Amino acid sequence: MLESKLLPHLDGYIGGKWTGGAGALAVINPANGEILAEVPDMGEGETENAVEAAAACLDEPASLEKRRSWVRALGAAIRENREELGRIITLENGKPIVEGEGEADYAAGFFEHTAEHMDILEPRRLKERPRDHAWTVYSRPAGVAALITPWNFPLAMVAKKLSGALAAGCPSVIKPSEKTPLTMIALFTLLERVGLPPGMCNLVTGMPKPIGKVLCEHPAVRVISFTGSTGVGKHLIAAGAGTVKRMALELGGNAPFIVFADADLELAADHLMQNKFRAGGQTCVCANRILVESPAAETFAAAVSKRVKTLVVGDGLERKTSVGPMIDADGMEKVRRHLADAVDKGAKVVAEASAPDVEAARFFSPTVLRGITGEMACTREETFGPLVPIMEFESEERAVSLANDTEYGLAAYLFCGNRERAERVISRLRFGHVGRNTGTGPTPEAPFGGMKQSGIGREGGHEGILEFVELQTVPES
Ligand code: ADP
Repeated sequence: MLESKLLPHLDGYIGGKWTGGAGALAVINPANGEILAEVPDMGEGETENAVEAAAACLDEPASLEKRRSWVRALGAAIRENREELGRIITLENGKPIVEGEGEADYAAGFFEHTAEHMDILEPRRLKERPRDHAWTVYSRPAGVAALITPWNFPLAMVAKKLSGALAAGCPSVIKPSEKTPLTMIALFTLLERVGLPPGMCNLVTGMPKPIGKVLCEHPAVRVISFTGSTGVGKHLIAAGAGTVKRMALELGGNAPFIVFADADLELAADHLMQNKFRAGGQTCVCANRILVESPAAETFAAAVSKRVKTLVVGDGLERKTSVGPMIDADGMEKVRRHLADAVDKGAKVVAEASAPDVEAARFFSPTVLRGITGEMACTREETFGPLVPIMEFESEERAVSLANDTEYGLAAYLFCGNRERAERVISRLRFGHVGRNTGTGPTPEAPFGGMKQSGIGREGGHEGILEFVELQTVPES
């Protein structure tokens, strides 16, 4: 069982108190299949209590400066505890410890950046005097915010949302993934020290359906901020329609990584490695389709293969590990299915890293494939694993149409030596984030979000705060 100074309680948190639930939910270490801890399996009753505790906080709104002090204190607390938070992330998620600690820094960045940009919430007095009135626009908290997050960034996904919610003055009910609730319990240990009013931040752990039902139907919940699959996102939109909830949704992706023949191929290969193998390929911004202009395909595939063979797959707690385990059996099964389907339809394996064969741990060997075509499942669905499927294209037009040939529009990457062509292609890509000669993903300072079925709204930048704000316009005679 996991021991940690940040886990003196293994409970949810409602109305300022650690709170249990009827059942227990085991949290598994994906690196060895062992049970790390058990947390409460909360249901509708606890979620209603959490929403009501949160709603009560709206009666006594905190000043902008007070909220800024909370946001700042939380960022500092995460930084101070980066190593222990990183260890808990690695234990329950499996990612390499360097990435676990990096996630804590990334999460702290959202609070730090938000604290610096809260002035946008000051009342705005219009310069004009329409109708001979003075007009002021106030930024009010939208109401109780439900923050629903996935397992691939157990801390950062909440940080993106909670920084904006707290800044705007929205009390929140957080529902972490049932696979990775421990990081959130650890965060609440830190939150307790920040001195928030009871009910300002609540944590419900448990299976999604009963908790989700209350969050979608309770009239006091005004914003649902969700990161996860497009399927669940669509369900939340439908379930929240009855009470007209605002939706801030960061959903699935199918990121193209486009390499033109005039690109710096060594640079592109380095960036692909950093991008593709982050969290073992289990992020929504990881390159999913590698589109390479034909004359460069051989050289680029060789450059990537050479690098892939050096990857070290294993337990994320070991510092030499570069790729951890798949989160669970379903995750493993999907990557295996995509590999088998591609090979069945004619793709060739051109490189493989070695991976320990521990059935309970689900280590997947990073694999590079060539001869990929648009009929293969790995180009239609998000693989969410360490598979590198290389597909070739002959023209700029074809690169754009292949890249956009998906219902998703989250992240894309373009490597190209010609500036004009890069600008032309980027303007035609229907993706909310496009890396130009870089595989970098989002950062706290910039807005991030999806086009098409990859979501609604933005996180990060000052735009992330606005998802939790309701404007109130006051004319005055
Ligand atoms: P992932 O498998 O990537 O975590 P999901 O979309 O399945 O993606 O889950 C993301 C988050 O949404 C998790 O916290 C999960 O528990 C939650 N979730 C899943 N189904 C529902 C639902 N019906 N209502 C509310 N939350 C849900």
